[in-house]
Amino acid sequence: MKQKIVIIGGVAAGPKITAKLLRTKDFDCQIDLYTEENLISYSSCGLPYYIEGLIPDSNRLIVRRPEQFEEQGANIHLNKRCTKILPEEHKIIIQDTITGETQEVEYDKLAITTGARPIIPSIKGINLKNIFSIRTLQDGINIRQKMLESKKAVILGGGYIGIELLEAFHANNIFTTMIEREDHILSLLDPEISDLVKEEILAIAKDNVDIITSDAITAFEGTDKVEKVITKSGKVIETDMVIIAAGIRPNTEIAAEAGIELGVSNAIRVNNRMQTCTKDIYAAGDCTENFHLVSKNYAWIPLGSTANKEGRCAAINMAGQYDAFPGVLGSAVTRFRNLTISLTGLTETEAKKFGFDVICATMTKKDKAGYMPDAANITIKLVVDKRFKKILGAQAFGGGNADKRVNTVASAIQAEQTLDEFLHLDMTYAPPFSTAVDPLISAALIINNKIYKN
Ligand SMILES: Cc1cc2nc3c(=O)[nH]c(=O)nc-3n(C[C@H](O)[C@H](O)[C@H](O)COP(=O)(O)OP(=O)(O)OC[C@H]3O[C@@H](n4cnc5c(N)ncnc54)[C@H](O)[C@@H]3O)c2cc1C
Repeated sequence: MKQKIVIIGGVAAGPKITAKLLRTKDFDCQIDLYTEENLISYSSCGLPYYIEGLIPDSNRLIVRRPEQFEEQGANIHLNKRCTKILPEEHKIIIQDTITGETQEVEYDKLAITTGARPIIPSIKGINLKNIFSIRTLQDGINIRQKMLESKKAVILGGGYIGIELLEAFHANNIFTTMIEREDHILSLLDPEISDLVKEEILAIAKDNVDIITSDAITAFEGTDKVEKVITKSGKVIETDMVIIAAGIRPNTEIAAEAGIELGVSNAIRVNNRMQTCTKDIYAAGDCTENFHLVSKNYAWIPLGSTANKEGRCAAINMAGQYDAFPGVLGSAVTRFRNLTISLTGLTETEAKKFGFDVICATMTKKDKAGYMPDAANITIKLVVDKRFKKILGAQAFGGGNADKRVNTVASAIQAEQTLDEFLHLDMTYAPPFSTAVDPLISAALIINNKIYKN
């Protein structure tokens, strides 16, 4: 008998579930995807590069259009918000965001992929015009439009999205001030690493970028549109626009109201098959919490890469087959111009918090043979557990392929390699790509020497 599969949310995880189910043989189902937006399946990750102008047309960020799914047999319902989940009755309530009309929809299996939304701090003047947050394709279009007629901008928040927008504005010659209330930008990194990254960014962009840390915005001022930003320390910064990049929170209110268990950061708790604690309800993507493979604790690390993997896993299990998603390392990469910043696993700060006996090494070296014309510095910090000699995490930044090194560490962590095994990795080398002893192995050797007091 045809199974009724209903999916709520249509950016990354929802379309991934749809696509995988459509490809699944021997599973007879009717797929209905509901989204409150007027489009589906686009790359939020590409928004900063669209704003920058590297991608001339926002349509290029659309991965699949509703018609493509419909041609394959899925039903895509745009402008439809799910307002309630009724697990006992296997029903959800949908409201049309244009007409306000509501309808009941039955499901055999439900997938919640409602993602997350930006945190908007309650700061005086927050509702003035030209203050933007960034999440949807339309947000990206609005920001680019305003940026093109601006000379000055302020970014609230020094996370990776803030950094990517800083690049976009810098490239468009907009004088931009980033304001981070914590002592360091990029709080995902260890403090001394994020300070080095900040120095590098300022060295690249000192003419039109300012980064203020340990200071918070207390008010936005202007008659109708934002004209000034006031900070706690008394700074008054004139601006044409403001981007709020103060983090996100999961869209899990309807799940919580339905009694579906939440976990860390109010994200939905799922097992490794993406099942929630409620029968026949699955969840995937930014609305779910993650199992961290190093700390062995739950964490909330919302990323597009994870949303896609979880979506695939959810679809396989919803189709009655078996797949298990082991968890995450929080591997991530971003950039500011030609500076790549990447990390995986635990930082030293986090590792100590989880009680590991930590030993670290930070190594700065050329990313390729020093005589190559484009050789650039790369800095790698490796975090190792002294007791079991297991690699816990890595952070890297530099002009070269920092992410290549971090991805190598991610593989080593997931393979549970010891430092000894890691040191003997047979990695590639030729002068345009690396040094004979890769900077990553150099960092590992320093730790090895520290442990064995060589
Ligand atoms: C600027 C930016 C850059 C990023 N860069 C990267 C990157 O480089 N790498 C990376 O891995 N990740 C990146 N991310 C994160 C990545 O975009 C997200 O992890 C990914 O979009 C999560 O997908 P999702 O489907 O789980 O949720 P979302 O993308 O949040 O989509 C959820 C959808 O569900 C809809 N919805 C919510 N509630 C309801 C409801 N009740 N009824 C109907 N519909 C509902 C929402 O409107 C939304 O359309 C970036 C994000 C942004 C904003």
